[in-house]
Amino acid sequence: MLHIGCHLSTSKGFENMGKTALSIGADTFQFFTRNPRGGQAKEINPQDVAALRALMEQNHFAPIIAHAPYTLNPASADPKIRTFALQTMADDLQRMEFFPGNLYNFHPGSHVGQGIDAGIELITEALNEILTPQLHTTVLLETMSGKGSEVGSRFEELKRILDGVKLNGKMGVCLDTCHVNDAGYSLARLDDMLAEFDKQIGLSRLKAVHLNDSLNPLGAHKDRHACIGQGTIGLQTLTNVINHPALKHLPFCLETPNDLAGYEKEIKLLRSLAR
Ligand code: FE
Ligand code: FE
Ligand code: ZN
Repeated sequence: MLHIGCHLSTSKGFENMGKTALSIGADTFQFFTRNPRGGQAKEINPQDVAALRALMEQNHFAPIIAHAPYTLNPASADPKIRTFALQTMADDLQRMEFFPGNLYNFHPGSHVGQGIDAGIELITEALNEILTPQLHTTVLLETMSGKGSEVGSRFEELKRILDGVKLNGKMGVCLDTCHVNDAGYSLARLDDMLAEFDKQIGLSRLKAVHLNDSLNPLGAHKDRHACIGQGTIGLQTLTNVINHPALKHLPFCLETPNDLAGYEKEIKLLRSLAR
C-alpha cells in the first residue's frame, strides 16, 4: 500500500495534524518543528502527543517527518549562526523523543564561500555534536537542488557526511524529487538515478521521499516546487517513482504549492496510480 501525505501546519497541535491527514486520505505527514525561520518552539502537550500516537497506530500510519527550520545553517562560518543551528537541532531531537521511531529531516547547510569540503566537515562535526546513543529518531539529510552554495546536491557529498558521522546508524536520507531534478539527476531515467544513489550512499539509507514536481528544467539548481503533473518532471515519471520496487515501501510526502483540498486531490490521484 502507498504511504502518502503532505506538509501540514502545526498551529492546531499534533492530534489535529493526524486528524487532518486522515481527512484527506493521508497516512503520513510532515510538519515544521517550529517557525520555519527559527525561534522558540511551542511547549509540547504530552496528552496531545499521546492522542496523535494512538491515532497513528490505529490507522497504520507510516513514520512521520519533522522538518527542521530551513533557515538553520550548521555549515556557517559564523560561530553564532552555527551554534544557533546546533542548539535548535539538539532541542528538536530532544522533543522528538515524545515520538519515538519517527524521522527528523534537515537541509545539510550552505558553505557560503568556504568551499564544499569545509561545508561537509562542519555539517559532519555538527552531527557528531548533537547525536547521542539514546535518541529514538532517524535523522535525515535532504537531497538539495544546489542553489547558491548548498551542500548535499551531489550524492557523494551526502555520502561523505554520513561516512564522517560516528553514530551514522541513526542517519538516513530523504530524497526530494524536485531537488534531485534541479541538481541534475534525471528522474526520467529512474533506474540510473537509483543505481547512482545506491552506489554512492546505499539504498538502505533512503528513508523518505519528498514527492514534488519542479518548475525548472533538469540541472537548473533552482528549487521551485510545482504541483504533481504540472512541472518538468511530469505525472508519468512521478508515478514511476511511487511504484518503483526500491521506493514503494517508503513514506512519500507532498510539498507541492497547494491548499488542503489540492493536497487531497493529489493524494487521491497518486493512490489511484499506485500498483
Ligand atoms: Fe526541505
Ligand atoms: Fe523537500
Ligand atoms: Zn525545495
